[in-house]
Amino acid sequence: MSKATKKPGKLIIIVAPSGSGKSTLLTRLKSDFPQLCESVSYTTRAKRPGEEHGKHYFFVDEPEFLKIRGRGEFLEWALVHGDYKGTSIKFVQEHLDCGTPLIFDLDVQGADFFKKAFPNVAKVIFISPPSLAELEKRLRHRHTETEESIQLRLKNAEKELERMHDYDYNILNDNIEKAYSELFRIVSEILER
Ligand code: ADP
Ligand code: 5GP
Repeated sequence: MSKATKKPGKLIIIVAPSGSGKSTLLTRLKSDFPQLCESVSYTTRAKRPGEEHGKHYFFVDEPEFLKIRGRGEFLEWALVHGDYKGTSIKFVQEHLDCGTPLIFDLDVQGADFFKKAFPNVAKVIFISPPSLAELEKRLRHRHTETEESIQLRLKNAEKELERMHDYDYNILNDNIEKAYSELFRIVSEILER
């Protein structure tokens, strides 16, 4: 279908301090909205148990990431909690052109980029934890991070939480059912527009 006959795709960006419950909420969202296509980022982070190359991330080493970046193939990239993360320009362009709604799991740097680059199309939803103490509990409970990574993520969370009111929507994830129904309502609203 030509670009003229199709509406451009929607861009939904989910941003939250690590451990807030973003992945848990996204998994449910993708199952309720199968039309949503999730952007798969590149990262230099080590793979966690259960993560798959090409599904959760494209896992690459640092020289490879820097080569891809050097070729200008990232729409945006950032150093997040000590690891590189980057969004593929080709992936976004192809889907945006054919009208598919896209969903992204990004940090605040990525969210800021999208708001600037696609001001009328990108909608950013910030997910907040009830407190830093609860965030720490959730990160520990997940059993995926080293002590060093937990400390870094908590330190970065303090800064990220200062941004919670800067975006289009803010959801407090104190209760997963309540947070999910709010997310469901917001995403339905964005997709219907
Ligand atoms: P993120 O993707 O934001 O890093 P996860 O979705 O991996 O966070 O959630 C971190 C941990 O917190 C997981 O073990 C998850 O099951 C748990 N969790 C998520 N939401 C809640 C909630 N509302 N109450 C209690 N635990 C939660
Ligand atoms: P994790 O290491 O827990 O998978 O992700 C850590 C952080 O990196 C999360 O806040 C996640 O949203 C962010 N992130 C993942 N991919 C990208 C990306 O391509 N760009 C940016 N800016 N952040 C990303």
